[in-house]
Amino acid sequence: MTDPRIKEAYLYKKLDDSKVQCLTCNRFCIIEKGELGYCKVRANYEGKLYSIEYSDISSYNLNPIEKKPAYHYYPTSTALTLGSWGCNFPCEFCQNFEISKRPPPQDFLNSSLLSIERVIETIRTNPSIQGISFSFNEPTLSLEYTVDVFKNIDPTYYKHYVTNGYMSPYALDLLIDAGMNGMTVSFKGISEKIEHNLDVKFEKIWKNVKSAYQSGVHIEIVYLVIPEFNDEEEQIIEFVEKIKQNLSIYTPVHFIRYFPHYLFEIPATPIDTLQKVHSIAKNEGLKYVYLGNVPGHPLQNTFCPICSELLVKRDLMSVTYTNMTVDLKCPNCLEEIPIYPYRRVNEIKNKN
Ligand code: SF4
Repeated sequence: MTDPRIKEAYLYKKLDDSKVQCLTCNRFCIIEKGELGYCKVRANYEGKLYSIEYSDISSYNLNPIEKKPAYHYYPTSTALTLGSWGCNFPCEFCQNFEISKRPPPQDFLNSSLLSIERVIETIRTNPSIQGISFSFNEPTLSLEYTVDVFKNIDPTYYKHYVTNGYMSPYALDLLIDAGMNGMTVSFKGISEKIEHNLDVKFEKIWKNVKSAYQSGVHIEIVYLVIPEFNDEEEQIIEFVEKIKQNLSIYTPVHFIRYFPHYLFEIPATPIDTLQKVHSIAKNEGLKYVYLGNVPGHPLQNTFCPICSELLVKRDLMSVTYTNMTVDLKCPNCLEEIPIYPYRRVNEIKNKN
C-alpha cells in the first residue's frame, strides 16, 4: 500500500549524482540518495526530495489564540491547532520534545492522518473555529501540507504559524502567497554563543520577520527566558534593539517562563527575573510587553502604554475583561491600541 504521507517537496534542487538540495529551511541540506535531511522528515528517494509526514498529525487541539501566544491578533478566537513531527533546531531545552525530537511513526497505519478535506470539513462544521494555527513542532517541516491547508480554506479564516522563523525566504513567500497572515516567532536568545550552540544564524530569522511584517503579516515575538543562558541585561537590550530595527515598538513581545525539560536541568526561571526582563524591554521603548507561563500574573494583561489604564485582562489563556472604545482606543486617554479585530467581552458572551 502506498504511504499517503510521502509527497514530493515543493522546494528543492536536483544536483549531480542523484543528490538534492532542500530549499525549505535555512539549513539548505544537501541530501544523498536514500538519506534524510537534518530534520529527519525529508528524504531523498531516487534523486527526488519528499516530505515523509504530509498530513501526519501528532497534535490536534482547539485552542484560544492567546495560547500561541498571540494577544493582538483575533483576540478571544478559537484556532484549530495542528502539529506534526520533528524540528530543524537542536535545542536541548525543548519544551515540546515529545513530538519535536522524534520522526513520524514508521508505518502510516500507526499515524493519525488528517486530509485537507477533513480539515475543511472540521472547520465548516464547527462554528467556534475562527482560524487555523500550525504549532507544537516546527511547522515549516510540513511546508507542503500547511501551504495546501492555507490555500484550501476559506479566506474568512485566519492562518497562523507558531515558528522558530528559520524557513527559507522561498518557503516564507509560499506561505504568504497561500494566505498566512499571522506568525508567532520564537527566539531562544540572541548571542553568538547561542547561535553557535544551535548552529543557526539569527540574522536570517530577523530577515524573515522583517519581510513578513512588510508584507502585512501580523507578528508577535516570543523569547524563552532561561536563567544563566539568555537572561543577561545586554542580551535583552540587544534583542529589543533588533525588534525596533526590524519590526516596531508596537510589536507585542512575550517573555516566556522556562521550565526544565528534555536535557536541561536548570531550575525554572524565577518570577523576579521575568519581571526584570519585562522592565528592561519597557524602558528600552517597547509598548506591549507580556510575561507568559505565569498564570495569574498581571503582566499578562494589556495596559495603555500612555496612561496605564487596564485595557484587556487575561487569565489562564482567556480574555476575562476588555475596556476599549469601539474604534480601538484607550477610553481614558484615547491612545490608539493595535489589537485587531477587537471585541468587547460582553459581545463575545452574546455571540457564544
Ligand atoms: S527542512 Fe531544513 S533541516 Fe529539513 S531537510 Fe530541508 S533544509 Fe534540511
